[in-house]
Amino acid sequence: MSPSRGPRVVVCGGGLAGIAAAVEAATRGAAVTLVERRPFLGGKAFSFADPGGGPDLDNGQHVFLGCCTAYLALLRRLGVIHQVALQPRMHVPVRDRAGRTGALTAAPLPAPLHSGPSFARFPHLGPRARARAAAALTHLAALGPRGRDALDDVSFADWLRAHGQDDDAIARFWDLIVLPTCNDRSDRVSAALAAFVFVEGLMRTRAGGAVGWSRVGLTQLVDGPARRALAAAGARVVCGQAVVAAGPDGVETSTGERIPADRVVLALPPGRVRAACPEALPEDPGLGSSPIVNVHLWLDRPVMEGPFVAVVDSPVQWVFNRNEVGGEPGPGQHLALSLSGAHDEMGVPRAALAARMAEEVRQVFPAARAATLLRTAVVKEAAATFAAAPGQAARRPGPVSPVPGVALAGTWTATGWPATMEGAVRSGLLAAHTVLC
Ligand SMILES: Cc1cc2nc3c(=O)[nH]c(=O)nc-3n(C[C@H](O)[C@H](O)[C@H](O)COP(=O)(O)OP(=O)(O)OC[C@H]3O[C@@H](n4cnc5c(N)ncnc54)[C@H](O)[C@@H]3O)c2cc1C
Repeated sequence: MSPSRGPRVVVCGGGLAGIAAAVEAATRGAAVTLVERRPFLGGKAFSFADPGGGPDLDNGQHVFLGCCTAYLALLRRLGVIHQVALQPRMHVPVRDRAGRTGALTAAPLPAPLHSGPSFARFPHLGPRARARAAAALTHLAALGPRGRDALDDVSFADWLRAHGQDDDAIARFWDLIVLPTCNDRSDRVSAALAAFVFVEGLMRTRAGGAVGWSRVGLTQLVDGPARRALAAAGARVVCGQAVVAAGPDGVETSTGERIPADRVVLALPPGRVRAACPEALPEDPGLGSSPIVNVHLWLDRPVMEGPFVAVVDSPVQWVFNRNEVGGEPGPGQHLALSLSGAHDEMGVPRAALAARMAEEVRQVFPAARAATLLRTAVVKEAAATFAAAPGQAARRPGPVSPVPGVALAGTWTATGWPATMEGAVRSGLLAAHTVLC
């Protein structure tokens, strides 16, 4: 690749936001350097060696939806789209502790009618609660983007109660979607963000709610492919060095290297932005954070079918069958329980939490009662995402910082999305466009 004659752009932070910004800027002819503190790219979506000797474990089961078009486009650009699975249409099996199983499935009908038939049969709400939930969904769809944005200071639970939903309906239907997408329960989540998820994710198009996941470890999915794509576009990748100072004319790294620049993208968490370039983020946005805990259970035999199941009435929330999702070999089964908004679980010792979850799995999946639990692992991410709390929108800055030539990126910036891989990629693209326009 011949040296670029475009502007020199330094992207700080090699999470999905930084990768997206770097790839976009390099593709548009900029001379890009991407600087990442850790030895690998991928940020909060990463994997690590399983201490038990199995395939790499993700720091948390990551899923995306069909509506995550920017994330899917990035995977295409990195040449790894074949490494992810995406349902042809949304199909979310939902069980409860009593063994009742239903599903939220997109029917071959025009949106938003596609959700109707499976919802009409959803066994975890009674007929009257279903009718009230359908009315609330219709109300959400009619709000429009401005109407939704106006709800940012209200908790989704308050909005739901004001629209006829009781605690049972919130727990057995609404939080089924809100927890994994906004990483907290409705009473802690902005009504604007939750409404965005239901309308844009599940109702706007038939394909939008299809669930996708990586078939390989998250680091394998992104680290090498991003480095190769960036190298092919003439970019330089510097891993294992933290940016300690940044300004419009360049950055300084923890090894003392000075990298000159014409433009800089800070794709870092807010605290790191303020440490490296305080003028770019004069005030701490005070977004707070929300935890995710993953509990891994290895059993001596299969106890569930299909790639995943959502569980109501139980702390296990969403259970992933890693043999199917990640192609892990049998004859046993590896389950990954993804616990979002796991404030209470963070303080529980790992062994006790694994034992509690194994007991719950025995309740939910009768076949697990005869199975032997071979081993367990618990992965706690205290600050997995920013808190999707009421008032979040006013705290999230856009890509333009007060420092000319310096742009902000990261899932915590103003994308309108909750803390997702899609939000991260969109923020990176916005930042690249900001510094190159
Ligand atoms: C357990 C868990 C489960 C999740 N599940 C899902 C899911 O199912 N679906 C979904 O869409 N999203 C999920 N997410 C959220 C998603 O992973 C994040 O929103 C997204 O990866 C954030 O990307 P980012 O680039 O904005 O930030 P980050 O990934 O935080 O990237 C910031 C990067 O900057 C680097 N850095 C920090 N300081 C410096 C410095 N001084 N110099 C250089 N580099 C620095 C960091 O090492 C990091 O690589 C989950 C997150 C976690 C933790």
